[in-house]
Amino acid sequence: MDERLRRAAGEAIGFMPEDEGVALYEAGLEAPAEHPWIEIGSYCGKSAIFLGAAARDRGTTLFSIDHHRGSEEHQPGEGYHDPRLTDEAGRVDTLPEFRRTISNAGLDGVVLGLAARSEELGPVWRASLGLVFIDGGHSAEAATADYEGWAPHLVPGGLLVIHDVFEDPADGGRPPFEIYERALASGAFRERSRTRSLRVLDRSADGF
Ligand code: SAH
Ligand code: MG
Repeated sequence: MDERLRRAAGEAIGFMPEDEGVALYEAGLEAPAEHPWIEIGSYCGKSAIFLGAAARDRGTTLFSIDHHRGSEEHQPGEGYHDPRLTDEAGRVDTLPEFRRTISNAGLDGVVLGLAARSEELGPVWRASLGLVFIDGGHSAEAATADYEGWAPHLVPGGLLVIHDVFEDPADGGRPPFEIYERALASGAFRERSRTRSLRVLDRSADGF
């Protein structure tokens, strides 16, 4: 991976450790690139740099979706609140930092930010996708909506990548693990690789 982008990702605010980020980049190197890719959960653009680096290498486009109002744990008073990321009304707003991060990395035009709720955009989306990366809200509702709303857009051979998959509930919340299990149980996906909490699946058949 491009050294400059790797450094930019390392410096970006967010929740994508380098080893999992590099695994994300490597998944991108193997994903179908005749179709765009999407990421759910931009936050400040950290994972978008890893995946955007692959999108640039492969000549495709990454749409990065987030309402930019933060998940439950990012709200004021919660464990992962970052006071740098608020608007004048004190509400969480990660969009300015996301734009800065992507621009400074030189990835404008490769990583296209979409300020939207995943569950509102998924059902009206029409383009087939080569890769879907789910790293949005971790509630059961959010994770389920991300899976149901986006995985069906994958072309055969397309990659479904899920972050924060914890087999042991002691390590973290379960919904990402539950959609991962559901994808495998559907028969439409096979596991391709795993790096800590990052799982890469490929769409092996039609139907869910
Ligand atoms: N990928 C990021 C971390 C994402 S944190 C990184 O590399 O650092 C999860 C993000 O999901 C938050 O920014 C939150 O605003 C977003 N999110 C949560 N629920 C969402 C929903 N329903 N639609 C869109 N974005 C959502
Ligand atoms: Mg995550």
